[in-house]
Amino acid sequence: MDALLEGYRRFRATTWPAERARYEALARWGQSPETMVIACSDSRVDPQTVFNAVPGEIFVLRNIAALVPPYEPDAHYHGASAAIEFGVRVLKVRKLVVLGHGQCGGVRAMALGAPPEARDFVAQWVDLARPARGAAASADKDARLAAVEAEVVRLSLANLITFPWVKEAVEAGRLKLYGFRFDIHTGVLLEVQPGGERPVE
Ligand SMILES: [Zn+2]
Repeated sequence: MDALLEGYRRFRATTWPAERARYEALARWGQSPETMVIACSDSRVDPQTVFNAVPGEIFVLRNIAALVPPYEPDAHYHGASAAIEFGVRVLKVRKLVVLGHGQCGGVRAMALGAPPEARDFVAQWVDLARPARGAAASADKDARLAAVEAEVVRLSLANLITFPWVKEAVEAGRLKLYGFRFDIHTGVLLEVQPGGERPVE
């Protein structure tokens, strides 16, 4: 706990005075982020850091492997879908970004099996990404996982379109969808496209 509280004290001593006006305005007027980012919970891939964003700039959902489930309006507890609904229907974000990453433990769990001690929820959750497994054409294991990671981003983008109000907003031009994958080794952000990936200049 000490390291966290030391971090908080540094925040109060340096970040807060510099950012105080911004926080006060956000408190007064509320948040109106233009972008929502769906990212992995992985501690190395913080979207606020990767996009060098400021408080109030991005509305963030993080979960294992940055997965978007399909639209299933039933009585179960849908945390991911609730965040997407809030971002799209209430905050009316203009851009919706799925941010996958290299060395993703969630994608690895889907492709190679979940850790035995994480079978209550993780195994079933990462199974959502199963349709992406077919992308693993390469012989090299790392390249195979990278291809699956990119395909998982495409799958999450496709699942977003199953939400009727996402589809409607995209078709009306009010919302744009983007997919990226962050390479932890090199710090390079790759744009995930239908047939491949392209480093962001
Ligand atoms: Zn991950």
